[in-house]
Amino acid sequence: MKLIKAEIIAIGDELLYGQILDTNSHWISQELDLRGVKVIRKTTVGDNRADILQAFSEAEERADLILITGGLGPTQDDLTKPLLAEYFGCPIVEFPEAVAAVTEFFKKRGREITPLNILQGHLPACCTYVPNPMGTAPGMWFSKKGTYWMSMPGVPYEMKKLMQDFVLPKLSKIFDLPVIYHKVIKTVGIGESWLADLIKDWENALPQHIRLAYLPSPGHVKLRLTGFGTDQKTLEKEVDIEIQKVLPQINKYVYGFNEETLETAIAKLLKNAGKTLALAESCTGGYISHLVTTVAGSSNYFQGSIVPYHNQFKNEILGVSQETLDEYGAVSEQTVREMAEGVRKLFHSDFGLSSSGIAGPDGGTEEKPVGTVWIACSGEGILKTKKLQLTQDRLLNIQLTGVAILNLLRRCILNIEE
Ligand code: ATP
Ligand code: MG
Repeated sequence: MKLIKAEIIAIGDELLYGQILDTNSHWISQELDLRGVKVIRKTTVGDNRADILQAFSEAEERADLILITGGLGPTQDDLTKPLLAEYFGCPIVEFPEAVAAVTEFFKKRGREITPLNILQGHLPACCTYVPNPMGTAPGMWFSKKGTYWMSMPGVPYEMKKLMQDFVLPKLSKIFDLPVIYHKVIKTVGIGESWLADLIKDWENALPQHIRLAYLPSPGHVKLRLTGFGTDQKTLEKEVDIEIQKVLPQINKYVYGFNEETLETAIAKLLKNAGKTLALAESCTGGYISHLVTTVAGSSNYFQGSIVPYHNQFKNEILGVSQETLDEYGAVSEQTVREMAEGVRKLFHSDFGLSSSGIAGPDGGTEEKPVGTVWIACSGEGILKTKKLQLTQDRLLNIQLTGVAILNLLRRCILNIEE
């Protein structure tokens, strides 16, 4: 089976000058990778004739599929369409269907169409017109000497729509692509290198046609298994067998598969157990409550939270004793323990979670440097606390505490030891 090579060309001065992040290439790469098309190069060029033409000819030398975004607007600085016409040596002509679509687009929105906009329905004669239901610049598909080209608008949701409706479904028709199956194992509470060490024997023994990728993000590591084959059912079985082999080694870190998030995993656990939750957030300032309430139906198990930022309220509202605060300080195991117990009582919940820490960048001491965070989980007959030693970055510390505390709750519910 021949490897299908793709290149992405993102066009626009704004991308070069750092005003806009090229998220289009990122998204397209992910979609192609999922389908077994190999992205071999990404190019960013400004709104400049010579640079764009050079990017076209270089890409054509190497790739089977060339995906272009941007520069399709009706204004003078948008060069992609005339340059594609020049490159392929065909005139720009009226496509009545495209003119009708752009006219309708304006009519539907109660706006008068301008002559400039009508020209958006004029395209290189040698292209296949691809309707763009989300905007006014159509997509253009070209095929020349075994290389396929697609030009799309730069606006991300327009580009995605054209990819989803037209390009992606076309790939398996024009190319001989492998059958691919992905499954993602979601882990939390273990770093990438520790995880890699834990599963190295399993990884080394994976069959040739099943690949493993580590995809880390703050607090989490995703393990993505990708199988390549010829038969979907067989492949799914083979990947699942490999997953069953590794799970016993990493079970306590695994909270779900594929689209599952830590928040939705927690939601399922609480719902299944018929348990409720309350939060006392100091250094996280409500962030964990936000995470919990992003899940639809969270009112079934989330009782509420308080943010006792000042010590006075840790004492007055949650009943953290003044002696504890004086002797150990707010950022201490003793304080988070009393906070978790206090909030559980206050909200009559089955579980109480608490956080207290030095998020930074100021406020650290030798004994408790920036990034020192204590978290606790209190439940019926259960109490777990954990000290985190995080970073110098305030927002990252808040985010990492969020992940750690939800994982602590998961361990509390499932009674998993560290
Ligand atoms: P339009 O018809 O809207 O003018 P266009 O094809 O001319 O479409 P551009 O003018 O290049 O597109 O970009 C339109 C908007 O899309 C830009 O303001 C920018 O915010 C966004 N955009 C363009 N290229 C990218 C990209 N590669 N990644 C993310 N956003 C992009
Ligand atoms: Mg532009």
